[in-house]
Amino acid sequence: MDSKDFVALNAEYVFNTYGRTPIMLVEGSGCVVRDSEGREYLDFIGGLAACSLGHAYPKLVQAIAEQAGKLIHVSNIFYIQPQIEIARLLVENTFADKAFFCNSGAEANEGAIKIARKYFHDQGAHDRYHIITMENSFHGRTMATLAATGQTKYRKGFEPEVQGFSQVKFGVIGALEKAVDARTAAIFVEPIQGEGGVRMAAPEYFQAVRNLCDKTGCLLMMDEVQTGMGRTGKFLAHEHFGIIPDVVTLAKGIAGGVPMGAVLAVDKAAGALVPGTHASTFGGNPLCSAAAVAVTSEILSDGFLDSVVEKGQYLRSRLEDLAAKLPIIKEVRGMGLMQAVDLRKPGSDITVSMRDHGVLVNCTSDTVLRFLPPLVVTKDEIDKLIDVLDFALTKAGGAEHEN
Ligand code: PLP
Repeated sequence: MDSKDFVALNAEYVFNTYGRTPIMLVEGSGCVVRDSEGREYLDFIGGLAACSLGHAYPKLVQAIAEQAGKLIHVSNIFYIQPQIEIARLLVENTFADKAFFCNSGAEANEGAIKIARKYFHDQGAHDRYHIITMENSFHGRTMATLAATGQTKYRKGFEPEVQGFSQVKFGVIGALEKAVDARTAAIFVEPIQGEGGVRMAAPEYFQAVRNLCDKTGCLLMMDEVQTGMGRTGKFLAHEHFGIIPDVVTLAKGIAGGVPMGAVLAVDKAAGALVPGTHASTFGGNPLCSAAAVAVTSEILSDGFLDSVVEKGQYLRSRLEDLAAKLPIIKEVRGMGLMQAVDLRKPGSDITVSMRDHGVLVNCTSDTVLRFLPPLVVTKDEIDKLIDVLDFALTKAGGAEHEN
């Protein structure tokens, strides 16, 4: 099927909710994907951080196949062995005491929001349901996560908003101190703003946020949907800041592309949800849990996170060399294998030019090229990214001085 056919068929049968790239990826191996016409691409989008182990990773394929042959799905009214296994792996290797499973990042965040409300409701503090999030944040597309998201463009046309959310400037502790009051149930923040352009804040900021939560009694909830599961070189990104959150949400990389989300929480927060208060038909089912066990075991295996750190540093230094040479690059940002270059002009044409030369990258926040390769990416593949990026940026006028 050539591109004219699938573009037309898609337009005829599928909701028009995505601005799609006119290629259809049909198979992959490691960091390489192939389209329906046999062209190969190096994948630095990695399913937007979902394909943590790359494509067709043998241990993941085997775990999925074995579980599919045994039991794909069973209701959560029964005990589910792979779900207990993945919960144990996550709890034993993080701050958390308990885990809940769902199907996506937005759903994990809905779970966190429900925890914050119910936690204070159970204490009789019925007015204490307000959640403070960050300007420029992204938390999902459901109604409550849209209200949590600090970008008004996503909410437009879907009013009235779910109430109980407000945003402050990311990275500015004074703004948070001013905003927190007796109604505040939780502060909800990404360790690194991903969709918002790979924007970071200092470790001291996060430590001050933790202190503020301790002082006022509100919960510290962190959205690690994009930054979690080894992406930044630690298993969870907040570990870089030396803080312990009360709730963390995960999705994307947790099951290597099999749809899954998770809420991790300390006992006092997890205890807010009791039978009848929260559930998901597919959440933590045998198939996705078996996939998550395979992925998580690999990420936690000896040397894996060290290799993410090492390759992240290599990618970072190669991007910085490029920035020193090409003034079109305003800034390099990121941690581990979540890196970005912020350009002095919009980046979408650059992604097209790179795609024509066999490398897939994502543009977010208009000017930011974001690199989220599978965590198994090699240095040779990073070199190829840099060669093609250098070529595309130079062609776009990168060597000229711009302000
Ligand atoms: N939270 C963050 C930080 C994200 O980056 C995303 C997706 O990009 C989401 C939540 C929403 O996740 P999902 O698309 O799985 O609902």
